[in-house]
Amino acid sequence: MTLRLYDTKSRGLKEVASHNGATSMYCCGPTVYRDAHVGNLRSFLLADLISRALTLSGIKVSLVQNITDVGHMSEDFQEDDKILTQALIEKIDPYEIARKYEEKFHQDLSRLNIKKAMVYPKASESIELMQSMIAELMEKGCAYLGNDGSVYFDAHSYPGYGELSGNRIDALKPGHKHEVSEDTAKRFHADWALWKAAGKRSEMIWPSPWGPGFPGWHIECSAMSMEILNSHVDVHVGGIDLRFPHHENERAQSNAITGQESVDIWVHGEHLLFEGRKMSKSSGNVLLLQDVIDRGLDPLALRLCLLENRYRSQMDLTWSSIQAAHELLLRWRGKLSEWAGSEPSVNLWEVDSEIESAINNDIDTPKILIRLRAIEKSDQKNKRALFMYADQILGLNLDQGVEEKTLTEQMKELLDARSIARSEKRWSDSDDLRVQLEGLGLIIKDTPEGQTWS
Ligand code: AMP
Ligand code: ZN
Repeated sequence: MTLRLYDTKSRGLKEVASHNGATSMYCCGPTVYRDAHVGNLRSFLLADLISRALTLSGIKVSLVQNITDVGHMSEDFQEDDKILTQALIEKIDPYEIARKYEEKFHQDLSRLNIKKAMVYPKASESIELMQSMIAELMEKGCAYLGNDGSVYFDAHSYPGYGELSGNRIDALKPGHKHEVSEDTAKRFHADWALWKAAGKRSEMIWPSPWGPGFPGWHIECSAMSMEILNSHVDVHVGGIDLRFPHHENERAQSNAITGQESVDIWVHGEHLLFEGRKMSKSSGNVLLLQDVIDRGLDPLALRLCLLENRYRSQMDLTWSSIQAAHELLLRWRGKLSEWAGSEPSVNLWEVDSEIESAINNDIDTPKILIRLRAIEKSDQKNKRALFMYADQILGLNLDQGVEEKTLTEQMKELLDARSIARSEKRWSDSDDLRVQLEGLGLIIKDTPEGQTWS
């Protein structure tokens, strides 16, 4: 059975290609100026799911994920580099900012059981590569030097511009992101900077044939993907916000260089909302994986919670849904330990055709979870083997058992105090005590027979 994924460009399902048993993947990585929020992690998880699905069917995956540590400009009118802005705020060197958040990114991936990519190239270490691609684009007549010393890609030079996002070049209006300071230097408002002249900027700049400066964000992904993956990407992954202009521009650059379609399938994950609202730093509505851990919840409960929704649907994450996923995770781990005693241990896992087709039909994780719930309730004899099969995609460590923890003295005192508060109908005290207990990692439930904990 072959994996089929929804391709943004052709707007339909497409079979993933493999060449001599290998598939190449590129996933747009983080801009390392802050902690990745759980929305970012949802997009990185998508690449992991695709890669696991291919590996499960015996295909070797070469996955590249870049680290953007220069050139990603903020989307306001200031047009500042995100890394340099954060370096000023934290009063440390921009490279230190980048390395600090890069390390935290890797920690988050490992806590979410996201398998390592083959390589994580950094933009700041790929400057020569980008410069030679820019020079080639200029030679081909696709890029020009503006009168401000920056080099721009000529959007009209690529006939297929707009095919990925559905935008028509002549319908694009001026005033898109990143265009404010460049308007006078560009020939056309939808052209974009490949190399930016340093101007007054003194940090994170490099010499170039066009004078000192720094690379634009879009050229980074073209340069790295084409160089490392031999000028062809089978599956390209990113969040939906990257469809335009980032991926539209990347496609134009890469195709202009290779003279052919450089990416076979463009996969975009929909956005994650938190408690009904868009996640953004400015509105203070951002959830980090660390916040989940600080509540005493298993980080893989977040993974399970994300898997309850199809990657192509927008999803609203709530604390109660993560809590419910945490409880389900513990229940399933408990069941797997229980079943280990009754099932023969010869088969580590057994293929289930329903799960297999859900995986291969555009990674339908909600369907896999529905199937597991049905298997759990059934009287089959190979439940553990089937769960273990699914877990190769789900990545929930379902066979790790449930850690038994005993109550500390402090927990016991708080539980007693809450029980008394409830019997005396002091509801606000009872609520405060619940928050304290949850902060210590306990799950409290109120039943007609009194409070219970786990
Ligand atoms: P950034 O670090 O901002 O460059 O983003 C890294 C990845 O996260 C990109 O693939 C974005 O499209 C994706 N992303 C950003 N916000 C969200 C969100 N709320 N939900 C899902 N993916 C997101
Ligand atoms: Zn990218």
